Order: sequence, then structure tokens, then C-alpha cells
Amino acid sequence: MELTYQPFELQLKHTFTIAKFSRTSTPVMLLQIAHEGHIGYGEASMVPYMSETYETAFAFLKKVDTTQFKYPFNFAEISAYLDSLAPGNTAIKAGIDIALHDLEGKLQSKPCWELLGSNPAQMPVSSFTIGIDTPEIMRQKVQEAAEYKIIKVKLGRDNDKEIIQTIRSVTDVPLYVDANQGWTDLEKSLDLTYWLKEQGVLLIEQPMLKTDRDSNAWLTERSPLPIIADEAMQTFDDVERAKGAYHGINIKLMKSAGMYEANRMILKARELDLKVMIGCMTETSCAALAGAALAPQCDWADLDGPLLTSNNPFVLPEFVDGKWVLSGESGLGLHLL
Ligand code: MG
Repeated sequence: MELTYQPFELQLKHTFTIAKFSRTSTPVMLLQIAHEGHIGYGEASMVPYMSETYETAFAFLKKVDTTQFKYPFNFAEISAYLDSLAPGNTAIKAGIDIALHDLEGKLQSKPCWELLGSNPAQMPVSSFTIGIDTPEIMRQKVQEAAEYKIIKVKLGRDNDKEIIQTIRSVTDVPLYVDANQGWTDLEKSLDLTYWLKEQGVLLIEQPMLKTDRDSNAWLTERSPLPIIADEAMQTFDDVERAKGAYHGINIKLMKSAGMYEANRMILKARELDLKVMIGCMTETSCAALAGAALAPQCDWADLDGPLLTSNNPFVLPEFVDGKWVLSGESGLGLHLL
């Protein structure tokens, strides 16, 4: 089995601003694993706040011995092997895991969603994120986003109501709110959850600091809207800790270390009666299709990564009525441009 990879700077259509920072591009590592005439494609999206870089990815990939990837793949063993090389590094581990899933699907002539037990008919609508900007540009972005059925809005600064009012001046679609840990005052936050509910908001992601479990739990107990852990939710071990502090969790492949771990997290969350959102980073069609393969098992999907980028090297998957369409093709169903 041959592993190859190349760095790729993924450009964003708009400067992306959330509560804590702004950026215009994302470092991505594109991976291929070749075996018996088939190629599995993978992707690691290394957003700056997750602390992985091209350097850490190259350093990790140098340690990977592809003789460990014996077919048929035992993903539990592979996951343990990758963790034995170095802790963390979840994005680059996800890149390898996604490539192996794509390869497995091609070797078995089955789509990844089928291998993972997903039903494409259960695909949830995917939300489309509007970053923080001037009211004029936000209105323009919302108007450009007319084909999306749910819009996700980044809040967590001092003008949250103003931002919602700006969006409501141009659209009535349901909204998700992501505070990105930006809320601090408990009573004010609770008042805001009631106001947001009246504004047609359906859920709130990570209202308070990820380290402040008590404040998030206080709000979860009282909020009329579901409160979802995102920054507080990284890997499998965090799922159990979310119980009691959040109504649900946001799973992202770049945090979980890939599809195998994400699938385990979904099953664990169901066992604990937690709601599940599947989210993404700024990603190409590759990681988005990997997320979409699991999305039918989730309550909510936030898989807009490739829609926010301007130099996706892969064909954009079919997107109909606000949902990704899972094809019957083997593997991820990914095509090079
Ligand atoms: Mg979030």
C-alpha cells in the first residue's frame, strides 16, 4: 500500500470571522493511498485554532508505516496504531482514515455510507454559515445563500441581536446560532436564548467557554433551545462528559480523527440520549463527502465546507433542496476536477 500526500492551501470565498479570529485560507493536506489499482482519497483540514500545521502533518506522516494497513482493514487496530505514533494530530489522522475508508469502499465496490450503515433517505438538511461582517455584506451574503434551507450565524460578540435582525431583514429561513464560546454572563445568555427562539433559531452551539462546564450546564438546564457542545467536544472520551452539560454534541471528522471514531461517537451519544450534529471545517469535497456518509445517522448536518471555498480541487457533490446527495458509487463518490 502506497501513501502519498501534498499540501494544498484552500482559499475561502470570503474572509471568515468568528468570535475569536479571522482568516482567508486554510492549510489542507491531500492524501492518497493506493492498493491493487485503486486509490483512496483523504484530506486533513488544519484550521489554525486546532494547532496542526503542514510541519506537524509532515512529521506525523513520516512515522506512518503503510504495512500496518492490511486489507481487509481493521479500523480499531489502525486507530490504535495511529494513536501509538503520537497523541493528538487528529486532522492528519482523519486524512488517513478517510483515505482508507474511500479505498475500502472501492475494494468492496460499495459506497462508504453503506459500509457505515447510513440510509441516504435520512439525510438532514445542511446549514450554510454566514461569518461575522458589516450589516451590508451580511445581507448580501444571505441573499447569495438563497438556495440554502438553514443558515448558521456566528455570534458571540457584543452585537448579537443586531446581527440576527440584519439577517431577519432579508430572510425567514430557520437559523442555527454558534456563539463560539463568546458568551459570558449567565442571565443575559438565558434571556438571549428566549429571544433567539422567538427569532426562529433552532439551536445554539458552544455558548460559553469550553472549559466552563458548569456555566454551559446551567444554561442547558434552562434554555428553551438545544445547547450543543462544539469546542468542548473533540474525541470519543469527551462524549460521556457532555452528558448533563449539553443537549447534544457537534462531531467533526478533523477533531474525532476520522470516520471510524466519529461513528463510535455517534453510537455513544445515542446510548447517552444526546442529540448529534455532524459539522466540518473549511474542507474540500473529500472531507465533506466523508461527513455526509455519516450525516444520515445525525439529527443535524453542518457540512458547508466546500461551499465556502473558491479552489476546491474536486467536483462539488450534488446538492439538492439544501441536502447533499449520496451517490451509489463505490467509496466516497469523489471525483477530481
Ligand atoms: Mg462551532
